[in-house]
Amino acid sequence: MPVGITRFDQRALLALAVGVGIAAGCSSTRQVDDAMLRAADGDSANWLSHGRTYAEQRFSPLRQIDEASVTRLGLAWWLDMGTLHGLEATSLVKDGILYTSSAWSVVYAIDAREGRVLWRFDPQVPKDHGKFACCDVVNRGVALYHGRVYVATIDGRLIAIDQQTGQPVWDVQTTPRGEPYAITGAPRIAAGRVIIGNAGSEYTVRGFVSAYDAETGSLAWRTYMVPGDPSRPFESVAMKRAAATWSGEWWKGGGGGSPWDPIVYDPALDLVFVGTGNASPWYPELRGTTGGDNLYTASIVALRASTGEQVWHYQATPGDSWDYDATQPILLADLTIEGRLRRVLMQANKNAFFYVIDRQDGTLISARPFAAMNWATGIDSAGRPIVSPAARPTKAGTLVVPSDLGAHNWHPISFSPVTGLVYLAATDAPALHTVDTDFKPDPNDQTVGFDARYQGPLVDKLAAARPTGRLLAWDPVAGTVRWKAEHPVARSGGTLATAGNLVFQGRGDGKFVAYRATDGQVLWEFDAGVGIAAAPMTYMVDGKQYVAVLAAPPLLFTDPNVKTGPNTKTGPGRLLVFGLGGTDTLPTAVRHDTPIPPPAVTIVASPKEIIEGGALFSLFCDRCHSPDLNLVKSGAIPDLRRSTAATHAAFEQIVRGGVRRALGMPSFASDLTSDQVRVIEAYVVDRARMAGGVESPAPPRAH
Ligand code: CA
Repeated sequence: MPVGITRFDQRALLALAVGVGIAAGCSSTRQVDDAMLRAADGDSANWLSHGRTYAEQRFSPLRQIDEASVTRLGLAWWLDMGTLHGLEATSLVKDGILYTSSAWSVVYAIDAREGRVLWRFDPQVPKDHGKFACCDVVNRGVALYHGRVYVATIDGRLIAIDQQTGQPVWDVQTTPRGEPYAITGAPRIAAGRVIIGNAGSEYTVRGFVSAYDAETGSLAWRTYMVPGDPSRPFESVAMKRAAATWSGEWWKGGGGGSPWDPIVYDPALDLVFVGTGNASPWYPELRGTTGGDNLYTASIVALRASTGEQVWHYQATPGDSWDYDATQPILLADLTIEGRLRRVLMQANKNAFFYVIDRQDGTLISARPFAAMNWATGIDSAGRPIVSPAARPTKAGTLVVPSDLGAHNWHPISFSPVTGLVYLAATDAPALHTVDTDFKPDPNDQTVGFDARYQGPLVDKLAAARPTGRLLAWDPVAGTVRWKAEHPVARSGGTLATAGNLVFQGRGDGKFVAYRATDGQVLWEFDAGVGIAAAPMTYMVDGKQYVAVLAAPPLLFTDPNVKTGPNTKTGPGRLLVFGLGGTDTLPTAVRHDTPIPPPAVTIVASPKEIIEGGALFSLFCDRCHSPDLNLVKSGAIPDLRRSTAATHAAFEQIVRGGVRRALGMPSFASDLTSDQVRVIEAYVVDRARMAGGVESPAPPRAH
C-alpha cells in the first residue's frame, strides 16, 4: 500500500514518540550529540550520519538479513516521493524515524516502521536557480545533531530544522546570492559545527568550504579551494602557494575547485577531508593556464576541523583537462599495508585511479586503475599521474577514457572490515573533448569551453562506443579486483555492505540486487521499475531489520545499453523499504504504451543534416532527453518525439532563447547556432517518423 500523511497521523505519531521517550526514560530518544556520533559504530539499529559513522564505511553490523535469509526479503512499504527525478540521498534513521531528502532540497521525517510521513519541509528553492544545477536539482541527504535536521539547498542555503516539528530554526545563505553556485551534497557535523561545500565548477564560481555553528548558524570559518584575484591579499599561505600554479586571469572565471560532495571528519586527527571539482573552464588554455597544476582543483584536501586551515592536499589530476573532479566519496579505514598499520583514506576517483592515502599527512600509498583509462599510463615516483600527451583535448577533438561522467562518480562506496573489500560502481566509457578556442565565460550559464561545432569523424567513433559497467569488489591493500559483477547497464548506484555477508546495490535499469560480499554471487533481486542511483542504508526498529533505498529516473543514467521502446518503464520517484517476509508490491509500472504520434511538423533536411543533428543531439541533449528520446522520463523531461506543433514552433526559443529555464532547460545560445538547432530538430522529427514504423516518407497512396 502507498502511504500518505494526515494531520491526525502526524499528531498521533508525535504523541506516540513523546510517550515512548517518557516511558523509556528518554534514553532511546536522546538527541544526537558528539559522543553518540563517535560511538555510532556500536549503535547498529540507527544510521546517524551520511556514511553511518565518521569513517563513512557504510558497513552495518546488522545480520538479521544475511546471505541465507535474504531470499525471504520483500518490500515492507514504500512511499511516493512526489518527484519524477532527483533522488540521490542516503536516508538517516534515529529511534524509528527516517530522515531523508528529495529533489529541490525537500526534507522528510517518516515513521521508519511503516512509512507514514511525520513532517515535510520544503525550503522553497526559487525554481529559476535550477539552471545552476549542472546535473539536476538533487540532494544527497541531511545531518542530525542536537535535536535538529540540517539540509543544504540548491540555492546555496544551510537550514536547521527542528527534528520534532519540521519547522525551520535558522536559515543562512552560504554562497554569494545570485551567483551560479548550487549545493547538492549532504552537510556533516564536526564538533558542534555544520560543514558544507558547494557545486558550480561547470559555471563561473570559486569553490569553498564553510563551517557554521550548529546552534546559532553563525559562520565559524570559510576556506577557499582556489586562489582569487592576486591583486588583493591572499586569505592564507595555502592560497598564495596555489596562485603560483595558475596563470593568466583565471579568477575572472572563478577557477572552480568546488567541493561538492565528500566531507569526512576524523575527530581523532581533528581533520576534515574534502574532494574538489575540476578547474574551470574544463580546458587549461581557456583558463589561461600554461602548464601549471591549478591547485587545489581535482584534489583531496585536508582541513583542520577547528579552524579550517589547510593541512595537506593530494592533487589527483594536476592541470585537469577532462572534468576529473576529485569529489567522489571518501572513506576512512585502518589498513595493514606491507606490515604497517596505516590510517588511510580511500577514493575511487572519476579519473579511474583508486587512491589509498595516509590521512595523517597526505602521503600517497597507492594509486591503481580500477577501470579503463587512456588519459594516463600510470603514476610516477612523485605520486603524479603520467599523462598521455595524446589525451590532451584540442580543437581537433580527442576521445578520452574515462568520460567526464567518470569511471566512478558521486555514488557512495562501502567497505567491509570483514572481507577487507571496497564495493563500488565502475564504468568504462569515452568522452569527446573539443576545445572552443572562441570561448568566453558566461556568468549566467554553464561555461565549460566545449566546442559543439566539431563535426569530425570522432563523433561517429563516440556514437559507436558501447559503455559498460559493473560492481567491483576492490582489494585496497593489493590494489586489485577481487570479484566483479558485470551489469547490463553502464551506470549503477551506491553500495551498502553488511555483516550478513551482503552487498546491496541498485542499477540504472531499476534492479535492486543483493550480492554475497565474499564472492559476488547474486542472492536476491527486486525490480524497482525505475533506475536507482542512491545508496541503500539499513536500520532496525522493534527488532526488525530494514533496508531502504531511494529510486527515481536519474538524469545522468541515460544509457545506450538500456533497452527502450514500448515497454520502457517510467514512474514516480519512491522510497523503497525492505524487510524479511515483506509482501508489499509496487503498482504496475507506467509504460509508454501509446505509440509515438506522427511528427507534428515537416522539416526539410538532407540525410547528412539529419546525421549531423543526431551527433549534436548526442553531445547536447541526450543527457536529459536520452539517446533514444524515450528513456524513463515520464513527462519530467519530455520525449522530444512527442513534441507538439506548438513546441516545434518555439523550438529555437526553447533551445537558444532559454524560455523554459524555469523548468530546468538551459539555454544553449552560446553553444549552438540557429542552423544547428534546426538540424537537431530535423533529427528529432526523423526519429519520430521512424518510431511510427515508417522507415522512409510514405509514398502517396492511390485511391
Ligand atoms: Ca565537474
